[in-house]
Amino acid sequence: MSFFTAPLVALTEKGLFCEAGGFYIDPHRAVEVAVITHAHSDHARRGSQRYLCVDQGLGLLKSRIGKNIVAEGYPYGTRIKLGEVTISFHSAGHILGSAQVRIERGSEVWVASGDYKRDFDPSCDPFERVECDTLITEATFGTPKYVWDKSARHGEAMAEWWESSAATGKNCVLFGYSLGKAQRILAELYPYAKKPVLIHGSIDELTQCYRADGRKLAETKLLETAIAEGEKSLFGPERKLEGEFILAPPSILDQSWISRLGNYETAFASGWMQGGNTFGRQGRYDRGFVISDHADWEDLNRTIRESGARRVFVQHRNGTLVRHLRKLGIDAHPEETLISENYARLGGESPGLFG
Ligand SMILES: [Zn+2]
Ligand SMILES: [Zn+2]
Repeated sequence: MSFFTAPLVALTEKGLFCEAGGFYIDPHRAVEVAVITHAHSDHARRGSQRYLCVDQGLGLLKSRIGKNIVAEGYPYGTRIKLGEVTISFHSAGHILGSAQVRIERGSEVWVASGDYKRDFDPSCDPFERVECDTLITEATFGTPKYVWDKSARHGEAMAEWWESSAATGKNCVLFGYSLGKAQRILAELYPYAKKPVLIHGSIDELTQCYRADGRKLAETKLLETAIAEGEKSLFGPERKLEGEFILAPPSILDQSWISRLGNYETAFASGWMQGGNTFGRQGRYDRGFVISDHADWEDLNRTIRESGARRVFVQHRNGTLVRHLRKLGIDAHPEETLISENYARLGGESPGLFG
């Protein structure tokens, strides 16, 4: 195999494109064939003619971009022939149905990682190790300051917070993204929750997709319903919520009805909480849980090492990781090197874009 020819997967203005297979991976625009790594909105967009994804993630994809899309869901590991290549999906451990895409042409194997993590997460299948010649890896947390305890079980800590807040008449409001993070929190709370977790409406349908797949999640009740019940109370004055655990997207902080929650403490669940980063809302949260959807620095490195890839393309404009990998002797490049004109300039040596 030669590195001198056109890349099997090129970076185009519509996203990653495999010409030999006639498909895009997580295209930014409408295309004919879209291979989708997972249903997050920066990966799954409307308008394509045909979608391929993991069967477990099909419900989420439809819930996100439309019930009437033409979409096929495949079990992990199924070999799918597209043009001159064979692709297969392998668990990325990121959210339900998330996948790394393995692309095989003859003896050449590429993997596009999509978003991935290797932390404990009872809401989805664990990350699967896949070997390849060329790896295109995400690098959201691609600097050494992002390292956390990957064996951490968060359910117990969240349950303790719930109990101590309830003892003083407060509610816990935990902010996390509505797809993936919210359901992971519900799965981690499952063994501990003594009453339903109140969830914001935007989380409900996605949560149903997880339940339909048989994932064990804490019982839930719609926040809006719980508030309305309190306000309609026939007995005495309006009842404010008390001792509840509320799961909502951060956007509700900017909505006027947040005042209807009574007394509450807030927390944010994100990898960005590592190192005291409060995600641009300095001081707005009482607590932070370091719960990430993405691999930390150590797991990015471990995954790259274990893939056995001789050439690595790093997404998210991450120069730190590229430089680090080069020091280790890995032929690493920023993703932009996959633009065909740039790739043509790649020989057996690194082009030294990062000096
Ligand atoms: Zn994602
Ligand atoms: Zn992403």
